[in-house]
Amino acid sequence: MQSVATPSQALTRPAAEVIRATPVQQASNGVCYAASGETAISATYLNHPGMTLGYRVTRGGKALVYATDNEQYRFTLEHIGQRAEAGREFGRQRDEQFVAFVSQADLYIGEAQYTDEEYPRKIGWGHSSLSATVEVAVKANVRALALFHHDPMHSDEVVAAMEAEAQRLVASWGATLHCFAAREGQMVLV
Ligand SMILES: [Zn+2]
Repeated sequence: MQSVATPSQALTRPAAEVIRATPVQQASNGVCYAASGETAISATYLNHPGMTLGYRVTRGGKALVYATDNEQYRFTLEHIGQRAEAGREFGRQRDEQFVAFVSQADLYIGEAQYTDEEYPRKIGWGHSSLSATVEVAVKANVRALALFHHDPMHSDEVVAAMEAEAQRLVASWGATLHCFAAREGQMVLV
């Protein structure tokens, strides 16, 4: 991303180039790819009641992953499908595929709508707990995690407390990734 571009220009300009220039290819793991010049975009389905997609954009040797409206499969398949351990195991495989999609991103814009205390009442809504998203970021070995998709009912104070808790969780994993709560209008140089 260029520091002079607005956030929307920085994200949409390369995406538009790719979409115009290139037929999309689908791989067996459900990830779609398109590439044009320096820019490559891949997309994968996320776990949400309404269809959502996560995107990975690489350009100039840097990778950005944007994936919100997303929930860990292992929790939803256990509860919604009434499949218990079989559901959890299939969910774990899907969750590992998602970690691979995020792997080594320079910036992962990830979903952290709920505190861990709130999440058990929201299983199946298509959103993640804070600790689940930190776990993805750590396992994927990303350089930075932007906590996003804040709950509209959370005050700035709650978001700040969740940011601090996420940083504590990162340290408890023994990881060093940069973790922060995304805010409106924020510019991040990748
Ligand atoms: Zn949603």
